[in-house]
Amino acid sequence: MEDSLKEYKEKRNPKKTPEPMGGKSSRKPIFVVQKHDASHLHYDFRLEIGNVLKSWAVPKGPSLNPKDRRLAVMTEDHPLDYANFEGVITEGYGAGTVMIWDKGSVVAEEPMEEGLKKGKLSFKLNGKKLKGGWSLIQMRGGRNWLLAKRGDEYASNRDILAEEPNSAVSGKSMEKIASG
Ligand code: MN
Repeated sequence: MEDSLKEYKEKRNPKKTPEPMGGKSSRKPIFVVQKHDASHLHYDFRLEIGNVLKSWAVPKGPSLNPKDRRLAVMTEDHPLDYANFEGVITEGYGAGTVMIWDKGSVVAEEPMEEGLKKGKLSFKLNGKKLKGGWSLIQMRGGRNWLLAKRGDEYASNRDILAEEPNSAVSGKSMEKIASG
């Protein structure tokens, strides 16, 4: 692949001056879980992979109990800045209230791009509500995946959806967001 930073690099000598020379971004990839009160209430689970948010709709939402495998239906990729969206979609596709239920960084335990092809993603979340190891496993090559917590110190029987129903960024309830 052609290095589009060739000219930048040729003009600089990292042994002599301190500018960045195109290493990895220091920003960690993010994840977001958006609670979405559309025709049915569901949770949209999104992981930054490549330059987009790979997205799954999780009808029952994530569970901290590793015994629970939650259906996660892959949906279309969303742009990265969608992770900042909390508000009301007034009409059309997905009309309804969207809350940033949780958000944070994600660390891949195996390369994510490869995992998408293989149908198996393993990662650690560092959100306000969701933490530790999680996995997403594809069922028979289709759009249906299963989201599950892995057994670690963050696994529990707590009903996180009921205990912490409000926004991770604004603290607002769905009703509050809906009323503007
Ligand atoms: Mn949705």
